[in-house]
This record gives sequence, structure tokens and C-alpha cells, in this order.
Amino acid sequence: MGTTDSGGANVANTDRNSTSKTGPDSPTEVRLNPGDVAPPGTPGTGEDVCPQCHGSGKLQGQPCQNCGGTGKVIKGIAGG
Ligand SMILES: [Zn+2]
Repeated sequence: MGTTDSGGANVANTDRNSTSKTGPDSPTEVRLNPGDVAPPGTPGTGEDVCPQCHGSGKLQGQPCQNCGGTGKVIKGIAGG
């Protein structure tokens, strides 16, 4: 829970990924669009047409912010 910075310099894992990660704070978290309810591939969810732009990916000549310009959003499938 409240782990203070006790300076753990014992780093054994030195697996360097050559992939340039540009994550702000959460490296393992996928950036979602406002219209997404879960990361792609999440069980119980699926792609659906963006209700804002209706799949066009654009709103009034500008990229739809709800789907990130993809025209699709991740929505939860009925169940659960
Ligand atoms: Zn959209």
C-alpha cells in the first residue's frame, strides 16, 4: 500500500525493450478513447459503431473525439 521510496537498487531484471514507449504514467495501460469502456480484446466487450460520428470517425470535419477518429468504440456486450 504505502510503500515509501526505500531505494531498491537491487535490479535483477534487465530486459530492455527496444520499443520506444511513450506512456505517461501507466505503461501497461492502453490509452482508451472517451467512447471506449475497455481496452480492445477485453472479454465481454466488443467493437461498436461510434454513436457520436456513426462510424465516420469525423464530426463536422474534425476527428471524432469520442472514438479518436476510428469510427469505432469498445462497448460492453450484454451479460454479466
Ligand atoms: Zn466517433
